[in-house]
This record gives sequence, C-alpha cells and structure tokens, in this order.
Amino acid sequence: MILLKLPNIINDLNTVLLPRLCFGCNARLYRGEQTLCTSCRDQIPLTEFNFEEENSLDHTFYGRVDIKKASSFLFYHDIGIVKNLIHYLKYKNQPQIGIFLGDWYGSILKKDRGLPQIDLVLPVPMHPKKLKKRGYNQVEGFAKRLAHHLNATFADDILMKTTHTQTQTQKSRIFRWQHQAPSFVKSGVGNIANKKILLVDDVITTGATLEACAKALAEERNVTLYIATMAMVP
Ligand SMILES: [Zn+2]
Repeated sequence: MILLKLPNIINDLNTVLLPRLCFGCNARLYRGEQTLCTSCRDQIPLTEFNFEEENSLDHTFYGRVDIKKASSFLFYHDIGIVKNLIHYLKYKNQPQIGIFLGDWYGSILKKDRGLPQIDLVLPVPMHPKKLKKRGYNQVEGFAKRLAHHLNATFADDILMKTTHTQTQTQKSRIFRWQHQAPSFVKSGVGNIANKKILLVDDVITTGATLEACAKALAEERNVTLYIATMAMVP
C-alpha cells in the first residue's frame, strides 16, 4: 500500500521543497492544480462569448476587414489574474501558460456550434528578431492546442511579419500614426484558397495587428476568416 502511495508522497514532498506557484496570484499550488490555483480558476473573467451570437469584438472589425466571426476567451484588465498570466507568458519564459489556456479554450470551442470545421489555425507571427530574443512566439502553444481540439492544421509558415526600414523619427506625427499598424504578408507557402481560417492572437486592443493579418490573407480567393484571442480589453 505504501508503495502505491509513494509517487504521491514524493510529489507532496517536492511541493514542500520546491513549491509551485499560481501564475494568477502567487499562492502555492497543491496536488491536482496546474498553472492556476482553484480560486483563480473560479474567478478568472471569462467573456462567455461564442461564435453564434454577435459580441463587442465583432464590432471592432466592422467596416475594416471582412471577418466572419470573432471571439475571445478572457477579459484583460489593468490588474488581476489575466494580466499576470499574460505577463508570465510573454516576458518570463513560461510558454506552458499558452498551452494551458489553449487546452481550456479549445475544449470549449470544439463544442461551439457557431464555429464550422476550421481548416487552418494561424498564429499572429512575431518579427524574426523578436522571436530570436524571446525564444518562442507566445501565441504558438495556444494556437497549436486550439488546432488540436478543433481537428485543424496548425500553420506558422503562411503569414510573415515584414520589417520597417525607415526610422520612425524621420517621419511626421501624422505619418507615424497612419503607419503604426504592423504589416504582414502571405509567404505563399501552402494554398489557402477556399479555406476556413482561424486567426489567433494573445491580447486584442485596437485590432490593428489582426486587421493587418486578415488583409494579407483576404487577398486569396474565397477565404473565410475567424478570429480567436486569449484575451481582449473590454
Ligand atoms: Zn491563484
């Protein structure tokens, strides 16, 4: 009997020696808890949006680019659980947070009757220089898990972020404002014509990044675009 319980005992001992902490509130995690403590899981602000009913994220894209439907998993506030999670994911070398969120949201999305069978899941790309510095694209793990749950193909070689060569200081303020949106191009790898694409990002604020990605993809014939993000600023 003691032998059967040994792995659990070792696990508990490990928890005492090397306590794992909640990325939402820094409280100690106990056996069975992963990434977030039970209290943070219960309190995390879910948008409860879906792909059936219109929501405020859909309104963000009206008149800008043709997005069939958009949704977001969480609300991002200036303080709190979601901000902490995203901070650890982006700046503290914790890519497993994206996988955790992708599994959670993916298990919800696969039951969403408003979302048709998706062919491709595309993460918003990072600039290669930034990717080299961070070591990973923070959207990748999340997008891969969504693709897994939706039985779709994950593809990170279709969209590319382009470089700005001119220095920003040489331009006028108005010019800068007009050209603030990052630009993306379709790399030409893989044929996306007639595909249903889910475009995925971390936190959506103005929607400029996703709009630029969507515009690059919409050049292809008969592409239907959907958007899913980890979080959105309400
Ligand atoms: Zn917590």
